[in-house]
Amino acid sequence: MKYYSTKDQARAQAFSLREAVQAGLAPDGGLFVPERIPQADMAVAERLAGESYAALAGYLAGLFFGDDIDPALLQREMERIYDFPLPLRRVGSRYTLELFHGPTFAFKDYGAGFMGRMVGLLGGGDGKPVILTATSGDTGSAVAHGFHNVPGVEVVLLYPAGKISRLQECQMTTLGGNIHPLRVAGTFDDCQRLVKEVFADKAFRARHRVSSANSINLLRWIPQAFYYFYGYHLWRQATGGDRPVIVVPSGNYGNLSAGMLARRMGLPLGGFVAASNSNDVVPEFLRTGDYRPRASVRTLANAMDVGAPSNFERMLWLCGDDPEALRGELAGFRCDDALIRRTIDELHRNYGYLSDPHSAVGYAASTASGKAGFYLSTAHPAKFGEVISPVTGAAVPLPPQLAELSRRPRTSEPMEADLGALEAFIAGV
Ligand SMILES: *Cc1c(COP(=O)(O)O)cnc(C)c1O
Repeated sequence: MKYYSTKDQARAQAFSLREAVQAGLAPDGGLFVPERIPQADMAVAERLAGESYAALAGYLAGLFFGDDIDPALLQREMERIYDFPLPLRRVGSRYTLELFHGPTFAFKDYGAGFMGRMVGLLGGGDGKPVILTATSGDTGSAVAHGFHNVPGVEVVLLYPAGKISRLQECQMTTLGGNIHPLRVAGTFDDCQRLVKEVFADKAFRARHRVSSANSINLLRWIPQAFYYFYGYHLWRQATGGDRPVIVVPSGNYGNLSAGMLARRMGLPLGGFVAASNSNDVVPEFLRTGDYRPRASVRTLANAMDVGAPSNFERMLWLCGDDPEALRGELAGFRCDDALIRRTIDELHRNYGYLSDPHSAVGYAASTASGKAGFYLSTAHPAKFGEVISPVTGAAVPLPPQLAELSRRPRTSEPMEADLGALEAFIAGV
């Protein structure tokens, strides 16, 4: 399988999987997409979903990556990555697919875990790859866990000292081994700027194989299509219905665009609801036909605080670059902070169900839409106790793995927000 940039409509420049993964973003600024979308045999997919998530994921991954990675090896890796449950639960009158039972308790584990193991298998090139990522919390922990103990790969994570939650810091700094967290004297913007400066330093990059693991990377995007197949299977078993509409709490639209990819692989869905917080550029586009990216505003569902979603281009590409087709496929819903709080409260009071603020956006959109289907839950409530507790009046219990983590020794290196210091560190890992 070859990959092209979304901006390269003439298909002038093809990239191998390894090249596309290492570059992250195409040289023309577009996003990588596959040369064709492989078709899944739904009878096979349903049978494998009945076996395990790993069996299903191995089959679907093989359709994309079977030429680059031995399918038997791919299957073995799936069993290592996806060794946690993925339940469909009934919440009130709705269903939700709980994507938050992975190692860092958020759905980003599905993409980051996959990318970590695949980068290890792809190998090749000169020198040891170094994955460099700036994080304000969630991405860093998912990447750290996804790449932990992957042979031959080192991971350098930059986070702003004193500006992330204790739990998030624990998730990044208690692994050790090939994971190197740096607590930077500065803000998240300083961390991001430093990473950009390293990527812009051609002389340094000629000597060191640095790449990023951000959410637009092909190896984080494609595996997110697989859980739509699994959710479909569970929902059909539970309800006997067909063509479910899937509600996706969205920020950068990696998750939702992966659902659209699943549909084009042959998954018979009824459509999607793009559920946003107050950063509603996409719902606004669906309503008015005008796409107006802008600066983001802070909300309670902060992992969705994105004002210019990178994957909008992939969604358009999946619709043959026809904005009207995209408007036909998605419905939109906007959920402000007041409604997020009300929803968390309602779910707790009526059903005794604790919902994190991102998943609450999904529930609110799902009840408003009223269509048969399910919504995606993207984070575990224990990660957002500081939002939930003031609403419900009770502490949110920590799962044992998270409680245990906070007792482990933490290690990270302090660093000034300085390019020279960062490059010296990378050269030394
Ligand atoms: C990243 C994230 C989202 C948004 O997902 P996108 O793919 O960026 O749309 C939603 N919820 C949680 C908890 C997240 O971490």
